[in-house]
Amino acid sequence: MLKHSPIKLLISLLLLIIGFQVSAAKLAIVIDDFGYRVKEDNQILALPVAISIAILPNSPHGAEVAATAYQQGRDILIHMPMKPLSKQPLEKDTLAPSMSAEEVDRIIKNAISRVPHAKGMNNHMGSEMTSSLSGMRNVMRSLSQSNLFFLDSVTIGNTQAVNAAKEFGVPSAKRNIFIDNHQSEEETRTQLNKAIAYARKHGSAVAIGHPHPSTVRALQKFIPQVPADIELVPVSTLVNHQSATGEPRKTLRMQPEGMTHSLPTEKPEVKTPSQSDEKLTEPTQPISADKTSVPENSELTEANKNAQQSEKPTELGICEIELPTTRLQGIDLLMFVVEAIYQDKTLQPLIAGKKAS
Ligand SMILES: [Zn+2]
Repeated sequence: MLKHSPIKLLISLLLLIIGFQVSAAKLAIVIDDFGYRVKEDNQILALPVAISIAILPNSPHGAEVAATAYQQGRDILIHMPMKPLSKQPLEKDTLAPSMSAEEVDRIIKNAISRVPHAKGMNNHMGSEMTSSLSGMRNVMRSLSQSNLFFLDSVTIGNTQAVNAAKEFGVPSAKRNIFIDNHQSEEETRTQLNKAIAYARKHGSAVAIGHPHPSTVRALQKFIPQVPADIELVPVSTLVNHQSATGEPRKTLRMQPEGMTHSLPTEKPEVKTPSQSDEKLTEPTQPISADKTSVPENSELTEANKNAQQSEKPTELGICEIELPTTRLQGIDLLMFVVEAIYQDKTLQPLIAGKKAS
């Protein structure tokens, strides 16, 4: 069955790994909850354009912020309110699993009109909504018509957002680290260092923060000191890297036999993200000036609950191997292959035979 010996296989892999170029690890930082706090929002907008922002569609200053960020060439996301499991004061038009596909579509299209030039969407709160596969299918069905990518904020461990996104060909990515679960400059700095470590290990990382004064101060100090092997990138570049234009990710997947993957009845057309900008329209509704509505921090509370699982990949039931892009990842893969060979019962007689001869 196996034509090549394990030794030859290892040598081939080694040569392959030596051929990989060592490239800078990519770090995307997204700041959520934009549109309410003018001072902090402007301080974030003064940071390098690689920092991406996510705007609450019903916030009083969302459209202004979007215009400024667009002029800067900064990535803009719609920060879509989604229903949490815990009782919270909710934003207007918070998406819930009980809503019909038509209602979800209407709310998303309205949000797109209120946050002009958005390239993607991520969830504000949403532990209940994102854990509902049917609910997230409604979201992705709508997004697939608007060429937006989806960044899963991962506010709950069993989030279905990326599963649903894949069904509808919506490019997606996941948040790896929250940088300000605790509003302290030191804590945010620690989390940013964790994000760097995550990026070095995995080739890239997506960190999410909020426009808190402590986060702003931490970022102002952190950005000039970003290590040379770390490249700050707009979040859309990591989405494209992972799954844009409908191309499969560079992963080897092994799913347990018998696992069925039900597809939606209406298969959406896969469109390229490059078409997105022209399709978005200017706001058609007046921006709400209701300043009594303040953004909650519940996603942070939810994040705390899920803090431990949130920093680990949550692809459950799937054995997923990313093809290495750095030397370190290559060595990781090599170690994995060696271990797999030595643990494979069908190969053990072969290895024993080699040792004996
Ligand atoms: Zn939020």
